[in-house]
Amino acid sequence: MPTRGKSAHDVVIVGGGVIGCSIAYFLAAHHGIQAVILERDGIGSGASGNAAGELAAVGRHQYSDMYTKFILQGIAMHHELADEIMDTSGIDYLFSDITQVRPALNRSDVTDLQYQVQWQESLGLSANWVEPSELKSRYGWLSHKALGAVETVEKQLESYPFCLAMLRAAEKLGVTVKSGDAAKIVQLPGQIVEVELESGETIQTTNLVIANGPWAVALGASLGFTIPMKPLRGQIVHAALPSGFGLPSYSIFHDSNYMLPKASGALLLGTTDEAVGFNPFPTKEAERDILASVVDMIPPLEAASVIRTTACLRPSTPDDLPIIGQIPDSDGIYLATGHGHKGITLALITGKAIGDLVARRNCDIDISMFKLSRFGTMQ
Ligand SMILES: Cc1cc2nc3c(=O)[nH]c(=O)nc-3n(C[C@H](O)[C@H](O)[C@H](O)COP(=O)(O)OP(=O)(O)OC[C@H]3O[C@@H](n4cnc5c(N)ncnc54)[C@H](O)[C@@H]3O)c2cc1C
Repeated sequence: MPTRGKSAHDVVIVGGGVIGCSIAYFLAAHHGIQAVILERDGIGSGASGNAAGELAAVGRHQYSDMYTKFILQGIAMHHELADEIMDTSGIDYLFSDITQVRPALNRSDVTDLQYQVQWQESLGLSANWVEPSELKSRYGWLSHKALGAVETVEKQLESYPFCLAMLRAAEKLGVTVKSGDAAKIVQLPGQIVEVELESGETIQTTNLVIANGPWAVALGASLGFTIPMKPLRGQIVHAALPSGFGLPSYSIFHDSNYMLPKASGALLLGTTDEAVGFNPFPTKEAERDILASVVDMIPPLEAASVIRTTACLRPSTPDDLPIIGQIPDSDGIYLATGHGHKGITLALITGKAIGDLVARRNCDIDISMFKLSRFGTMQ
């Protein structure tokens, strides 16, 4: 059995999504601990490699002040570390600015959005209310039905290259990936955790991080506790514009619908929030619904053609907050999942927090509101 410290199996992370890769990176970069990432499919093959890649604290979801501040801290870490991660990994994940326009399409939107402007300002964020008379000249793609809009400048990135960059940077510091499907976790005496793979192989470790997205529920059950989390399918239409159109220089978001031009030249139209179990397949129905809604809000998209539609599963908790921390009464078992709509945004802050916890170091990030025990489902 490896001793705690530098041995390759001192830390095992189940899940090679953006959360698992980020934890591995911080463990290696900040603590010199080289974890093994256990991944059953491909790195970033879940939501992490298929997400829109928008990093905004305020948008279609209105979170509590505390959670919004945590998200802002997460975005600040992206600003701080983007160059370091891109340099170490050699992967440019196109971390860039994008103007975000949130239109009011009815009177109640006007009230909500004007309140949001004040709230954003109270958080120290810059947000402007654009009057309807200015919309046509500034945001000509938007329907003339809009009664005003909030404009902000946000960050975005390319999700799959970002996930790969986290992995490559971690690998350069000694992290390894093992192919395998974790079926069961057993806590053995002497602070040893055993992971049983579907293949029958077993892996022992002194620190296990469960970071396998919505599938963490099954691993929790094998340990005898309930993780109240469900997969929430989201679909994105990848669209192309006819020649001569040119990609708009701003994004437009309203409820679940959005148009997001990417720095790569791609045009993403979203999305859905579907509770359909572990079904990761795109549907023609969702594609039609997304197109109908975005064309209504952004008429020039009528001319867009569909390249493909993708679907993936968000790990979604009842209160929309992630689950980050040590499992109570366990010896060396940690959870990092449930990031819902914000996993790309919160990847770095989660990676640092769990890295510090596993290394038994003081952590300057407050993760007390993300404990599993808040649900009262521990046995
Ligand atoms: C349509 C859509 C758009 C999104 N857009 C954004 C966005 O713009 N900004 C943002 O911040 N967030 C966004 N998200 C949310 C974000 O994608 C997720 O919160 C995040 O990717 C979750 O990462 P994860 O690493 O926890 O899970 P995942 O990406 O699901 O990774 C889990 C990994 O674990 C592996 N795995 C599962 N079970 C096992 C097992 N038993 N053994 C071994 N390996 C296993 C899987 O193969 C997978 O690779 C979006 C999500 C969707 C669906």
